[in-house]
Amino acid sequence: MNLHEYQGKDLLNSFGVEIQRGIVVQTPAEAVAAAKKLTEETGTGWHVIKAQVHAGGRGKGGGVKLAKNLEEVEQIAGDIIGMHLVTPQTSAEGKLVNQILVAEDVYYPGETETSEFYISVLLNRATGKNMIMYSTEGGMDIEAVAENTPHLIFNEEVEPSTGLLPFQARRVAFNLGLSGKAFKQMTKFVTALYTAYVKTDSSLFEINPVLKTSDDRVIAVDAKVTIDENALFRHKDYEALRDIREENAVEVEAKSVGLSYVDLDGNVGCMVNGAGLAMATMDLIKQAGGEPANFLDVGGTADAERVEIAFNLILKDPSVKAILINIFGGIVRCDRVAQGIIEAYKSIGTINIPIIVRLEGTNADIAKELIDKSGLDVFSVVEFQEAADKVQEVLA
Ligand code: GDP
Ligand code: MN
Repeated sequence: MNLHEYQGKDLLNSFGVEIQRGIVVQTPAEAVAAAKKLTEETGTGWHVIKAQVHAGGRGKGGGVKLAKNLEEVEQIAGDIIGMHLVTPQTSAEGKLVNQILVAEDVYYPGETETSEFYISVLLNRATGKNMIMYSTEGGMDIEAVAENTPHLIFNEEVEPSTGLLPFQARRVAFNLGLSGKAFKQMTKFVTALYTAYVKTDSSLFEINPVLKTSDDRVIAVDAKVTIDENALFRHKDYEALRDIREENAVEVEAKSVGLSYVDLDGNVGCMVNGAGLAMATMDLIKQAGGEPANFLDVGGTADAERVEIAFNLILKDPSVKAILINIFGGIVRCDRVAQGIIEAYKSIGTINIPIIVRLEGTNADIAKELIDKSGLDVFSVVEFQEAADKVQEVLA
């Protein structure tokens, strides 16, 4: 589960990580009030207005702007709220900005003694250890740094059983070229960040930039936080942080009816029972020259109702040119699934794309007969390979 920048920052701050202060708002008038409040609290005269969407690269797309007075706060807030922000990480249509963060300006005007660093915490799956990845080259595209100057990216592997040890935090601060007060602040920052990562059951923290201010504070200016969904049961309060406006609408709908659905870019919709078979089916589609339009596991109870819901989900994707239904009847009987497909098909009305059905397992023969006799425009096949050939044929 991804969080907005303001939510990520609040969460980090609750574990003692220093952050750029800000207030989230939804209208220009609220933005002005927030700016006044921040000036009272922090003394800042200038403010940054930051679009809150689940996508990085907002600065490049015009979603992060500096306001030097309250009129500018109001004007920029008005410009950004409601815009469709296009960044290197969004689609061409961009993401609708529903809310903005009004933040204190921490790059104090006229000062040049600031440094922007990159710090992330993530799981290194190869070693089974957590890892702090960091670089002196913050603020910009970390992918470009990795590509062009990989020696400027450092890793600190952390043994989960011991946690981050003090000498490791000092090594991070040292490699970032810090000394004196900034060095101390950085060791504190990294230590708090690592604690927050573990305590929140996150799978990724990416703080870019981490800023060293001209008065040697070390603060998170941005925060990308991804919480491990499998651990959400331990953090019931995090559920409120979910913003479904940022998620894929079809995936949200699928989840609400208990289906695992992942939207993909291809043209062949798939309806499969079991995650393993779903993966195999996607491979098969690729082999046949197609690209899967989705991953959909309808689970163990592929009855008429579920099949109909699944059909409707798949049909919402305009790029779907064919549907492959691949069900293995182990616990569920194939004839019941076939009946479900026929009923669902009839109740949806016309489906103008070819449907290929492969039902294998208990009562597969009865199922095939049911479909063949139904008079519907559905191809029933028995073998996996036949299904692949049929996909190829209908796409041709
Ligand atoms: P991203 O583009 O989505 O990664 O958004 P960031 O939160 O990282 O902001 C983009 C850039 O805006 C940063 O790299 C900074 O250079 C700039 N920025 C952020 N906060 C401030 C601020 O307080 N003052 C000024 N002058 N620039 C800021
Ligand atoms: Mn950033």
